Amino acid sequence: MKKIVLREDEMPRQWYNVVPDIPGGIKPSLDPVTHEPVSAEKLGAIFPEGLLEQEMSQERFIPIPEEVLDIYAIWRPSPLVRANKLEEALGTKARIYFKNESVSPVGSHKPNSAVAQAYFNRREGIRRLTTETGAGQWGSALCFAASKFGMQCKVYMVRVSYDQKPYRKFMMQTYGGEVVASPSGDTQVGRDILARMPDTPGSLGMAISEALADAASRSDTHYALGSVLNHVALHQTIAGLEARKQMELAGDFPDVVIGCCGGGSNFAGLMTPFVPDYLNGRKIRFVGCEPASCPTLTSGRLAYDAGDVAMMTPLLFMYTLGHDFVPPGLHAGGLRYHGMAPVISALTREGIVEPMALQQLECFQAGLLFARTEGIIPAPESTHAIRGAIIEATRDLKEPKTILFNLSGTGVIDLPSYDTYLRGGLQDYSYPQEDIEKSLARLPEIV
Ligand SMILES: *Cc1c(COP(=O)(O)O)cnc(C)c1O
Repeated sequence: MKKIVLREDEMPRQWYNVVPDIPGGIKPSLDPVTHEPVSAEKLGAIFPEGLLEQEMSQERFIPIPEEVLDIYAIWRPSPLVRANKLEEALGTKARIYFKNESVSPVGSHKPNSAVAQAYFNRREGIRRLTTETGAGQWGSALCFAASKFGMQCKVYMVRVSYDQKPYRKFMMQTYGGEVVASPSGDTQVGRDILARMPDTPGSLGMAISEALADAASRSDTHYALGSVLNHVALHQTIAGLEARKQMELAGDFPDVVIGCCGGGSNFAGLMTPFVPDYLNGRKIRFVGCEPASCPTLTSGRLAYDAGDVAMMTPLLFMYTLGHDFVPPGLHAGGLRYHGMAPVISALTREGIVEPMALQQLECFQAGLLFARTEGIIPAPESTHAIRGAIIEATRDLKEPKTILFNLSGTGVIDLPSYDTYLRGGLQDYSYPQEDIEKSLARLPEIV
């Protein structure tokens, strides 16, 4: 069987929350000013109650609202695909499966959370959402979701992507969203950054500060974050829950589950539904692949840190490179975040997740092989998962193991990056440890 599909009525009707199952648990988020555990009241200024409940929930299963399932049904359940042409090309006995999250209307896994976030905001009377976006995938997902619920959406897009990757900007505008390059002149924090660093390429941390400031200034507006937070990882578990059923239909079970890691949400979405199996004694490895140019899990520190440059977000206990870390302008734009989801961070601390840092040339090469064997041009971010899968499948070509990875998105809108790669215009880059130490020295001091 090449493609394992579920019927619409077989779609999971609950998300899975891994938090109560993490050995050692996760630490509470702290108020950035008082360093006390952050109150739901304060977060209520930027997030709706429905999402805050999920953020703090200790329930294992959380029902997916009917209205969200209806919109999911536009592209879900997504296919699970056996990559047998890739296996043949590698000459491996490993069986490689991928969960194809590139089939959503915007071409990535991100609407799994965007739709849920728009729904819970709209339910509580919010008419307008603000957010940041790197390469534009989260912004386009949120604009798509906002349009579904008749809401407005304003997106602060990292300057370098705004200039170099106009197509997702067009997509956001097509869905009715408003897009500005960040840092922008539209917020005080944006103006302050521009005064200090007029030529900055921008960063997700800066764009988050702007989107938060905008949301805090208007009562009809809330902020939506595309990764990192518990509720975002929760919404993404629809992919892993489907994949679990599909693996069962295939009569197989993964020995290794792999995903690329930016803020950790697509990887968490695929892998966490297999954590109970791991805790019940099944041998499963979970491999999180990140770029060597933004090596949060492999070179960062597990500490309390802010999610944004201006330190407006709650302090999260996570692997971080420092909240003012500005990664080089590498092409896998969606993997440029300085922090990592607290759930993925905690699972890494427990040794359940194994992080792997990869260089961009080996990833693009893996992306080309995937396109030429499986026919799908993967998002540059997703090529990290593909490279990870290839490494696992070729360690021992004769070992018949089962590998499952998340194809988090399509690269059709990222063809200019492929063009640059094919012309020899990309280089490998490892972020120097001494520079990482410099930004880590500016972590907030928690006593
Ligand atoms: C945003 C994005 C990522 C990285 O985000 P995570 O939260 O780590 O999943 C990976 N792949 C694609 C296609 C993306 O759009």
